[in-house]
Amino acid sequence: MSLDRTNASPATDSSRRFLFEQADIRGEIVQLDSSLREILAVHQYAPGVQRLLGEFLAAATLLSTTLKFEGRLILQARSGGQIPLLMAECSSDLQIRGIARGAQLATAEDFDQLLAEGTLAITVEPLKGKRYQGIVPLSRHSLAASLDAYFEQSEQLQTRLWLACDSQSASGLLLQQLPAQLNRDPQLRQQQWQHVCTLGETVTPDELLQLPPADLLYRLYHEDPVRLFDPRPVAFQCSCSLQRSRNALSAIAPGELEDILREQGSINMDCEFCNQQYRFEREDLADLLRAGPAPTLH
Ligand SMILES: [Zn+2]
Repeated sequence: MSLDRTNASPATDSSRRFLFEQADIRGEIVQLDSSLREILAVHQYAPGVQRLLGEFLAAATLLSTTLKFEGRLILQARSGGQIPLLMAECSSDLQIRGIARGAQLATAEDFDQLLAEGTLAITVEPLKGKRYQGIVPLSRHSLAASLDAYFEQSEQLQTRLWLACDSQSASGLLLQQLPAQLNRDPQLRQQQWQHVCTLGETVTPDELLQLPPADLLYRLYHEDPVRLFDPRPVAFQCSCSLQRSRNALSAIAPGELEDILREQGSINMDCEFCNQQYRFEREDLADLLRAGPAPTLH
């Protein structure tokens, strides 16, 4: 089926929270269109890699909506497959970026080939405070299933995800049990959780990608009272900056900076997420060149 998205509906690129009115369960629906295309336009990835990166970005966005503080959530997969490193980040204000490093020759369509023998690190990085990281094997032939396994094992709130991407847009649905508030009976809580997950199981990739959130909720949960909140915009926004690149250079010994300047005349740093180029001349780095040896990094 072909659908002209620009005419069918305005670009979505948003995340929408919903709540089941009679159960302590929340949900989130994310749909990425132009933000995904902008990210994919920076690189030349094969369709299989594009779809996987789209799923990672949708998942990072969904999970970042569960953060209770300013900061960012990073999903990072390392594998012995065709994609050595796949990374997607989303900040608490829903700015996303992502990359599949070393995937220029990755042509597989299949999750298990692209990310064979992979592990997934889920990092939560508050602007202030301690960073937290959980690591799980990439398993069960999809990112969503790997994340489900992660939440099954962890002591966090029960959480399920469904993801889809077709290289033009990416979508995801998240369900999460909330602490007991409306219902304290553990059996009833479990029953309600099972009920919404069983219906969630019936969602198809096409429905995730094509139905507006209200229609998707009606399709899945028309017998359950659900409150859908206003959309929050999601955008591709790289967090790189001149200052950050300069900070990275400050970790390099002045002697080494001198060597590069002598050989190349200037120091060029390209952001791998957005291709932005940062160029430093000798006079831009005067203070770093004067500084003593860089402090040891811990
Ligand atoms: Zn950048």
